[in-house]
Amino acid sequence: MGHNISLLKTSLARKLPFRNRRLAPLLLAVSALSLSACQAEAVEHLVANQQEYKDAVKKVSAGDTIVLANGVWEDFEIIFSGQGTEDEPIRLTAETKGKVILSGQSNLRLAGEYLEVSGLVFKNGYTPTSEVISFRRNSREFANNSRVTEVVIDNYNNPERYEVDFWVMMYGQNNRFDHNHIVGKRNKGVTMAVRLNTEASQNNNHLIDHNYFGPRPILGSNGGETLRIGTSHYSRTDSFTVVENNFFDRCDGELEIISNKSGRNEFRNNTFYESRGTLTMRHGNNNLVAGNAFFGNNADHTGGVRVINAGQTIRNNYMEGLKGTRFGGAFVVMNGVPNGPINRYDPVKDAVIENNSLINSDNIQLGAGSDEERSGVPSNSTFSKNFIYNADGRDVFTVYDDMSGIAFTDNILGSMDPPSFASGFTRASVELSRAENGLLYPQSDIEAGVKRDMSVTNKEMTGVSWYPKSEPLVAFASGDVIKVGPKEGELFAAVGLAKAGDVIELSGGNYVVSKFLKLDKPLTFKGMGDVNISFERSALFEILDGGSLQISGLNIFGSDAPDNAGNAVVRTSPYAMLQNYRIEIENSNFTEIDINHSFNVISAAKGTFADNIVIKNSSFENVTGAVVKLDKEIDDYGIYNAEYLTIENSSFKNVQGAIVDYYRGGTDESTFGPHFTLTGSKVENVGGGKRNRSKSSIHLHGVQVTNISGNSFVSSRPFVINHTVGEPKTRVFENSFVETPSPIVTELNSGLPPTAEIFDNVGLAE
Ligand code: CA
Repeated sequence: MGHNISLLKTSLARKLPFRNRRLAPLLLAVSALSLSACQAEAVEHLVANQQEYKDAVKKVSAGDTIVLANGVWEDFEIIFSGQGTEDEPIRLTAETKGKVILSGQSNLRLAGEYLEVSGLVFKNGYTPTSEVISFRRNSREFANNSRVTEVVIDNYNNPERYEVDFWVMMYGQNNRFDHNHIVGKRNKGVTMAVRLNTEASQNNNHLIDHNYFGPRPILGSNGGETLRIGTSHYSRTDSFTVVENNFFDRCDGELEIISNKSGRNEFRNNTFYESRGTLTMRHGNNNLVAGNAFFGNNADHTGGVRVINAGQTIRNNYMEGLKGTRFGGAFVVMNGVPNGPINRYDPVKDAVIENNSLINSDNIQLGAGSDEERSGVPSNSTFSKNFIYNADGRDVFTVYDDMSGIAFTDNILGSMDPPSFASGFTRASVELSRAENGLLYPQSDIEAGVKRDMSVTNKEMTGVSWYPKSEPLVAFASGDVIKVGPKEGELFAAVGLAKAGDVIELSGGNYVVSKFLKLDKPLTFKGMGDVNISFERSALFEILDGGSLQISGLNIFGSDAPDNAGNAVVRTSPYAMLQNYRIEIENSNFTEIDINHSFNVISAAKGTFADNIVIKNSSFENVTGAVVKLDKEIDDYGIYNAEYLTIENSSFKNVQGAIVDYYRGGTDESTFGPHFTLTGSKVENVGGGKRNRSKSSIHLHGVQVTNISGNSFVSSRPFVINHTVGEPKTRVFENSFVETPSPIVTELNSGLPPTAEIFDNVGLAE
């Protein structure tokens, strides 16, 4: 590289907006000249390789800056240590912000006082340690009064999906993490955490502000939180961390977006956009949640705030279009365990819940989790001046226990009748209008709900200006059309040439595919006319990291597959995949899927995860395996293979395995899925093969939401449905059963009677 170390004198060090810093008027009056007379001159070190960096960092003193030369820095484990001062921090920055890329096995550790890092991008690699950015060098040397700003971490993931690491760990005290862009955490482990595990990191006064927490896809297991403050072990310790003006964009990892596990933190003016889960006050007392906006846009499992423990204030928060249920509702007050151990829920007491707006949101849950152990009801708390509106007038309250410990006053309900469990609610005739800040308000004579001057953090106010906040997914059929015919190799070549989102149109004819069609991008295969496809390898399509598959109007035959057990029409990579994939099948027919045994239509490997599998208007006949095989996570860690499987208006005939083997084992309760829907379909002679271990036509283990309705089942095995944890919702209704036994539903862990709702079916033995 052409750079030499250069030493450049800087003018008076740029004033840093460190937190709690109060600019003394006197200092402002001091000229650069007189300042430089009484201290060493600030030096700027431009470094071009790791050795130059190491030499420079040994020499730096207060006020100096180390500048990393533009380019890609491979396998660079940065240790940034030094002793800056409040007026003269030591800086590490990029020659040009955004043009210094840390890739491969790189990471950053800070240790010392008054350090500031800015302008770096971590991508194309992953940390060799358990942290990408750590505010400590080791268990003895911490960073204090230090700042990380305008840094990007983009899809910097360990390729093993369930290998745990963390992107940002704050230790020490008085640190600030602001204006960073954090997107695409896909492997297990909280994206960012504040640690309180030694005294040096407690009462820390950290500030986490103006960060863009971009999309984090569904993990399919616990460990997908975006932000955690504390751990249960130190949860009765105070943290004094402020989290404000951040934007949480589709942070969907698991059911906690933020898990607060310490005391005296403040969550102010953050925006949660279409994020599944809740801001959870899991542990710790005396926290403030104020001025936050939650926009669900009616996305599944979007939630608001869940309140647990003592002394929590939830004030002036706005919630709109949140569809979350039970613990993931728009607003949830839990029951607790009286005098319970530190890792259980403490009862809610002294809570102040006021001036919140809940608009077109589905669920307010009070006393949630009430059972023999969680018998501690809320006490000495208030719920006042809240505004609750539901356009369809549906009652949003579910009350699980005695709420006499909450004083309900001056709450206004729009289009809803007051609930019966308490007074303090008035029904008003309400007209909503959207104000300039983007929030819906009732007419001005209604004072309940969020303040009219509430400031709402939008996406543009967060992160950095020089790095795009791009969409995480390429939609099917959003690109070009590539036309192919049945000539040998033409289809294979088109797959190689196509770009993400393209449509490959197959003209009528008979196609024999002699190689795997490997997809590392979303592609659509669309039959134009009578398109018949057979294949000579053990799978037709293999979905690799980044790949997704949509097929429409194809007739697929298994008859040319090799004479071995375990073929599949579609399978995932046999290796772990970081990127979630999608499959959509419509208007297609699958026949002769019967070369040798255990020939599946769709087969997922361990360590892979589908966001969504949809099958519509399609038929499946003569299959020796299962239609959809989602049962490879057998370790019972609460991990599973797909979030949604939806089948509509399809037919299944002579299938030896099950329509689906869907498995989520273990007792962890941190996920919303899996989900399964089967509607409007015909099922005949399914599940009877001797190798079908579940002896069922539909095998669901640990599935959280199930809807099987409007189908006909003929001469098939029964469903086998095992409920494991949570409150699984299983509904089986308006189906007809002929020569098919009743569903077998088992509650494996709860000891409760079966909770499946099975009603209005025809032909079931009672
Ligand atoms: Ca969790």
